[in-house]
Amino acid sequence: MWPLTPPSRSAPDVYRQCISNANAGNRAILDLYEDSVAQASTTYDQVCRDQQLHTLPGTAFRPPCPPLTDDAAKQHADLLENVYTQRLAGERGPGRPIYDELRASARRCPLCGIGMVTTLDHHLPKTKYQYLAVTPTNLLPACADCNKKKSNTAPVTTDEQTLHPYFDNIDQDIWLTATVTEQVPCTVQFAVTAPAHWPHALTRRVEGHFRAFGLGELYALQAGDQLVGFHHLFTELAQRGAETLRTHLTESADSQAAERRNHWQTAMYRALSLSTWFCSGGFISAPATNYV
Ligand SMILES: [Zn+2]
Repeated sequence: MWPLTPPSRSAPDVYRQCISNANAGNRAILDLYEDSVAQASTTYDQVCRDQQLHTLPGTAFRPPCPPLTDDAAKQHADLLENVYTQRLAGERGPGRPIYDELRASARRCPLCGIGMVTTLDHHLPKTKYQYLAVTPTNLLPACADCNKKKSNTAPVTTDEQTLHPYFDNIDQDIWLTATVTEQVPCTVQFAVTAPAHWPHALTRRVEGHFRAFGLGELYALQAGDQLVGFHHLFTELAQRGAETLRTHLTESADSQAAERRNHWQTAMYRALSLSTWFCSGGFISAPATNYV
């Protein structure tokens, strides 16, 4: 949901660094796949730009069988997966500085906008796309929750393509909206509201991303916590008059929007400011603890 500058490192460079200390037997096998890794990276970047990731056949991104026997294909596939797990992500792997560099490129998870980055997530899973196991543009800094929710899934339809922080940037539009449930206890609900000029496929992708990472529930929880924290202030302002509270909420929304137009706080403050019920103190009869 939040764009990131793509890594500058190339897949072949990362691959070579990772396999640099492999023993002779493994190195002989891994050297065979350097061209495949390079070609896969180029193809992957192009289909990401074209929003056609669901068209990539996994069979073209792992060791071929035939001509390899089943056992040999499995051995080669395992070696390629280990280039990531042992040689890039492993604490003593030769590629570990690159892993740390990629992970440090964002502090907050670009998939949800909430969690702290603690890991790298394969946008296309390494279990199915071994040639992309250490492709930098396939490795997203992510929080543990988003990494777990995504698991080893790969899109098979246009709609199933979750947003890619290195290639998709929808932040020029306002697409995140909120509504206030005008009853006690007050809650805030979030939804994707697509601008009229968005293609249908993009709308479906953003809605799919929203569902896949549980953003509606996540943001509602954050909003509930915020309402608790500001219950006392909002009550005081409402008691001075609806316009006093509305002005505060509008200014808060404008301040958030100046830097983060699709942040949940921006959407929440906008929705609260537009609710006459809320600005008039309709929420006051609720004890603050009812918000969570
Ligand atoms: Zn996340």
